[in-house]
This record gives sequence, C-alpha cells and structure tokens, in this order.
Amino acid sequence: MKNNPFGKRLAAFSAAVADKGLDAAVVSGQSNVMSLTGVDCDNACLFVTPRSVVFYTDFRYTASVNRTAPWLKTGDIKKFNGKKPFPSGARAFAKIGFESSVPYSKYLTLKKAFPKAELVDVLQSILDLRMEKTPEELEKIRAAVLLNDEIWAEAQKRFSPGMTEKDMAREIKKLMIERGDGEAFETIVCVGKNAAECHHVPDSTVWNGKEPVLVDMGVKLGGYCSDMTRNILPDRPSRLYKKVYSLVLEANERAIKALKPGMTAGALDRAARSFLEKNGFGKAFGHSLGHGVGIDIHEAPAAAKRSKTVLKPGMTVTIEPGVYLEGNLGVRIEDLVFVTENGCEVVSKSEKPRF
Ligand code: ZN
Ligand code: ZN
Repeated sequence: MKNNPFGKRLAAFSAAVADKGLDAAVVSGQSNVMSLTGVDCDNACLFVTPRSVVFYTDFRYTASVNRTAPWLKTGDIKKFNGKKPFPSGARAFAKIGFESSVPYSKYLTLKKAFPKAELVDVLQSILDLRMEKTPEELEKIRAAVLLNDEIWAEAQKRFSPGMTEKDMAREIKKLMIERGDGEAFETIVCVGKNAAECHHVPDSTVWNGKEPVLVDMGVKLGGYCSDMTRNILPDRPSRLYKKVYSLVLEANERAIKALKPGMTAGALDRAARSFLEKNGFGKAFGHSLGHGVGIDIHEAPAAAKRSKTVLKPGMTVTIEPGVYLEGNLGVRIEDLVFVTENGCEVVSKSEKPRF
C-alpha cells in the first residue's frame, strides 16, 4: 500500500480478512472506504483479499481516483451487479466479508455477485480500525475544531435580539460554507426552554437577547468533522439555571480530568454521570457522555454507560454532559478531546462562560 496515507489501516484490515478465514471483503460504505484509502467517493466498492486490494468505481470517478490515489488499482464497479464477469475465480469464493450497514438492495447485489458465498459481517472490524486516528487525521480534525471555534466567535458577534433560532442557525451555516466545507450536521440553536429538547430543531422562536441560548455546532473541513456545544448565559439567570449550568460545567471538567488512556469509555461516562447523579440530576442526563469524531460526526468509541472499549492515545471523544428539565431549561457543554499518552488534550478552545 505504498504512499497510501491509510496504508497501515488498510494492511491491518487485509490481515483481519485473512484472520477471519475470508476469501475477500467488500467495503462500500462511503466513510469506511475513505478511512481505508483516503478517497471520498459515493459510488465505490473496495475489494480486499488477504493479498490484494482493488478499488471498483464507475466511469465518472475513475480518472480522478487514478490521479489522487495512484497507489490504488481501479476496476469497473459494474462487475458487482452480476452482469459483468467478476474477477477470476471470485464467483466461487466461499466466505465474503461485508458491512451490515449496507442497504438491503446492495446486500442482494452482493448475493448475486457471489452466489456460493457465505456473507460475514466485518463492519465492527472497520469501525475498530477507524477508532485510532492517524497523526494526519488528528491534524485534520484539529483544524476543523479550530475553525469551529473561530466561527462560534464570529457568530456571537452577529447574533442580536430579535433574531429567531433559524436566523442564528443560518448565520452559523453561512460562515461554515464561507470558511469551511459546510456543516458536519444540522446546527442546533435553542432559545430559552427549547434547550430542554436535547436535539431541538431551530424554529421561529425569537431571542430577546436576555434568555440563554444553547448552540451545538460542527464544521466539516477537509473531509473531517468537529463538534461543540456552548451556551450564551441568560441576563438574569434563575437560581435553578445557575445551579444546573454550574453542575454541568463541573461534570464536563471532571470527565476531562478523569480521562486516562487504559480506562474504559464506560468509566469515562461514569466520571460525569455519578457526579450529576449525586447532585440529583442523574435522570435529567438522558444520553451518553460522548462519542468519537472523525470522517463521520458519530464514530466509535461511544462514551456510554456500558461501553467496555478501552481508551487509547489517538482516539477522539466528545465530553458532553447535559441536564434537560422539560418545559423549563436545558444545558449541555461539549468539548472535543484527543486521548493522549497521559490523559487528554482538550482541542476545543472556545471559552466556557462561568457564573
Ligand atoms: Zn454536538
Ligand atoms: Zn456530539
């Protein structure tokens, strides 16, 4: 895999194909293909055997793949619809790896291409390999996070009383298109009690300039995502808001402090969760502490209660405790961190305001 910046990961996957006793694996999920080759293509099939790799795509993309990834051998994807003969001997293969995330139609196509083969799910192996980022990937994620910080600073200057949630989300989206490659996910803007809905869709609620605003945003840059949540504090906060905000901030900081390589992602979740539980807000923290971020906005590891995934240097994870009190208020504070040799590096630099 000479010159492929993802050559190590692809070689490891090829070894996994051999270990599982598979004749080959077919990888077609767009972000999975990108994580193994660096090529972002919406119609590709990576055919990996223990000894070879072929990147199958269609006429529209072949020339650009040959130019941007000359280390890849390319082939015609039509060979996967059963109409063109498949690479010699492949129709007799007995065990083929596939991703259980593919659409059913694609699964049927695979069945047709390999009539005699048993199809074995290899999705988890790919997701596990994607969990540990390459140094190049970490730099790309860092760049996306820093741009996100810049956009948040600029967006706050553009916010003014009288704007609706949609107006504010649109300002953020515009900045993301101008300065980056657009949104990594639909920006969440919640005015006042709308923040009690943890994935609220921005609507026509008007901000009077005094209520709190929760913003969850991530820009995409160079194929990688960022993810951050910040709150604009209310002018005259209720005692409850002050209390909840301060506890969520402390839960975020406690988890960051607790993070050490070698611990499980479940233990990381507990570092924040047990603190909120002790303070009476366990039930109001209804989601996991965080998730990995990379080519996709949600990747492994899941920092969830029962996760047994061991955190290792090179992994990314968000730290996003939240408390949601229906019809009243919501607070979430989210940073993206890199797991390091000694602990973690908080990559998100946007200020977390305090009372
Ligand atoms: Zn987020
Ligand atoms: Zn997140």
